[in-house]
Formats: sequence, structure tokens, C-alpha cells
Amino acid sequence: MRTLITGGGGFIGSHLCERFLDEGHEVICVDNFITGSLENLDPLRHRPGFTLIGHDISHPLEVPGPIDNVLHFASPASPTDYLNYPIQTLKVGSLGTHNTLGLAKAKKARYLLASTSEVYGDPEQHPQREEYWGNVNPIGVRGCYDEAKRFAEAITMAYHRAHGVNTHIVRIFNTYGPRMRLDDGRVLPNFMGQALRGEPLTVYGDGSQTRSFCYVSDLVEGIVRLLFTDYHEPVNLGNPAEITILQFAEEIRALTGAKVPIVFKPLPADDPKVRQPDITKARRLLGWEPKVDRHEGLRLTMEYFQRKLRG
Ligand code: UDP
Repeated sequence: MRTLITGGGGFIGSHLCERFLDEGHEVICVDNFITGSLENLDPLRHRPGFTLIGHDISHPLEVPGPIDNVLHFASPASPTDYLNYPIQTLKVGSLGTHNTLGLAKAKKARYLLASTSEVYGDPEQHPQREEYWGNVNPIGVRGCYDEAKRFAEAITMAYHRAHGVNTHIVRIFNTYGPRMRLDDGRVLPNFMGQALRGEPLTVYGDGSQTRSFCYVSDLVEGIVRLLFTDYHEPVNLGNPAEITILQFAEEIRALTGAKVPIVFKPLPADDPKVRQPDITKARRLLGWEPKVDRHEGLRLTMEYFQRKLRG
């Protein structure tokens, strides 16, 4: 099989490239590296069957030869990144999704869109089921990401309905693990980086907002299973173990053994108050559920960041 992954130099994308190489696929990784990194691909670049194309997928891409699977994972994905690159985020979610769908259609390939729990916005239903339509502020600071992904879902369903493309949509909840960027601004790299450097942990707001963190290997397993189903509607993937951000700060402080204070900073605009996936559908459809608990996952991630900080 020949599998093309956009955003293959990113955190989740690089783990997907690795997984498909391990399964014997030829992997074509497409990335423009505005938020991805070549370093994520260091373990993969010299493996047989791996090809890297430096390209911005918001512009059309022609690839010679057959392709069996197209996975569209290119996008700035942390609130800091999409605040820094709002136009690129809107373009890769809209034009990039259009281009990758066109490629899948031309090659008669399976297609999988990386969508997000952000389509639920600041949710008024809890936990979030796939049937929930969400509560998104289109013109807020998160709108560029949320609306791009909502458009991406809409055009993916349109290509399925109008052209019969074999599409799949995964709604990814907070995911963590090795290859996250220390400076991507997300809560986990921030807290880990701060703890390991001996700096105060910055909790935004009063820390009562919740998130549910999934280890990357669990997510990748769910994505691979979904790709090979005949199911076309969105599926949540995430770990339902929910925690407040203040508890999370305390957990990371205890894990790292850092003797640092927790300081409170202003809550960013439109920051969702709660988030937890309902994974009933993934359990039923894919026989999938997360296996790595937070303690184990955080330990593995800490070891990665320790190596990074040692250079
Ligand atoms: N957050 C925090 N301190 C930080 C970074 C983030 O308290 O240094 C909070 C943020 O306000 C949000 C949660 O942690 O409530 C998760 O933020 P993240 O940027 O990881 O992603 P989100 O889940 O909001 O997309």
C-alpha cells in the first residue's frame, strides 16, 4: 500500500508515518514545516519506503503513481500556533482539505480527515457525543481553527455524498506524547517545560476548566482502525479520563519532583470550560479504547522532554 500523510512532520503526523512504515506501507509525507519539524522525521527519513515532499498543501499537489490512502493531518493545531498563523490555518483546513480530497478522488484512495473536538467549541453538552453540533464563536480567536475544521468536515461529507469518495472523519481530543513541541503553547509542553526548567507553572484562569488527555499511541491505533472501516460519519477519539487544569499542574509537579509554585494567569478568550469525549461509538465500531493511563503516558512524555532539554 502507498499512503500519503499531510502534516507528516507534525506531532501526530510523524507517529502515523512511523506506524504505516512499520506495517509495510510506502509512506509519502507532505509538510511545509511551519509548525512541523524535520527532527520528528529523523527516525524515519532513511527508512526504505519513506518519501518526503516539502509542500504547502493549500496549493494543489500532483503525485505520480497510485495512492491507496490519503490522511489529511496538516494544520497548525495548538491555540498559540493558530493564533500566530490564522490565515494559513483557514487555508489548510479549507483549500488543503479540498486539494487532498481531490487527490483521493483521482487516485480512488481511502481518505481520512483529522478533525477536532474544537468543532464542539465551548460545549453546552457534556461529555461530547458526535451528534452534538457544537457551540463555536466564528469570529473569536479560535474561530480560524474551529471553522476551518467545521468546513473541512462539511466538504469531506460532500465529497463522500457527491463523488462517492471513501471518506473518514476523526474528531481528535487533547492528545500528548513524544514529538510535541516544547514551545507549542499547549498546556502539557508548557507545564513540563516549566517544571523541568524550575520555573513556575502557569495556570490560566482559576484552573477549574477540564480537559481529557489521550496518549498518542492510543490515538494512532484508533485512527488506523477507523481508516479501514466503511463508516463515513465523524468518530470521537480521545481518553475520557477528565481532569481539571489545576489538578493537571499538580500531577506534573509531583511527577517531575519540581519544587516550583503554581501561578495564575488570565484565561484566554473562548477557552472551553469542559471537554471530555464520549467514545461509545469508537468502542462499538472499532473495538477501541485507550490503554495507556495518564501516569504512564506522562512519564514517557517527560523522558522525551528531558532528552530534548539536555539537547
Ligand atoms: N493552559 C494553562 N496554562 C498553560 C497553557 C494552557 O492553564 O500554560 C490551559 C488553557 O487555558 C486550557 C487548557 O490548559 O484551558 C488546555 O489548553 P491547550 O492550549 O493545551 O489546548 P486546548 O485544549 O485549549 O485546545
